[in-house]
Amino acid sequence: MADPAGVDENATQLSNAIGRLSWPKLVQMTRILCQKNDAAREFYRGKLFVNEEDVPRPSTPRSPDRTPSPSEASDEGDDGEEGNPPNPQPVPIPQTTGSKRSRPRYTLCINCEREFDVVANTKKSCQYHWSEAEVDEDAFADHDECTHGPMDTEDNRAAYPENFIYDCCDRTSDDKGCVTDWHRETREPTKRQKMGP
Ligand SMILES: [Zn+2]
Ligand SMILES: [Zn+2]
Repeated sequence: MADPAGVDENATQLSNAIGRLSWPKLVQMTRILCQKNDAAREFYRGKLFVNEEDVPRPSTPRSPDRTPSPSEASDEGDDGEEGNPPNPQPVPIPQTTGSKRSRPRYTLCINCEREFDVVANTKKSCQYHWSEAEVDEDAFADHDECTHGPMDTEDNRAAYPENFIYDCCDRTSDDKGCVTDWHRETREPTKRQKMGP
């Protein structure tokens, strides 16, 4: 048996090496681990799946709430990943009565485009803007596109979020979303969109 100090050192080295893995490599190794190891497979099953009936949902696909002030929801900015949501408000789904169907626990929200935990989803979990942020040319007062390049670039959006304004609320992309809602996996049919191919 190795001495405890050596075990600690090996564990630290391994932890550091895992921390340096690229995302695709990590996914690939996790898949291999689950193929080879029953305990790992059960661990990931327990972490990554939930019963459909344990997933809280909005009772009706109504229009989301508009928030008049960004400060109102300032303590609810994350997606509920850490800690317990205040009021999950579970709503049973009529068509799945009786059966315990499992489903993936983590998925992407089509509105805020962030990953969320479907079990921790609440009506205040998601904040987003329903329009694209447009460049505010007045804010780039000394910017000549012939000399300095285009105003609307990923770099400028990151460096000067206050120079990009959302049509939906006239706020800048520095501010939080003007709509507070549940994270959503799919578009609601009530939203204006083209359903056909
Ligand atoms: Zn907005
Ligand atoms: Zn969301």
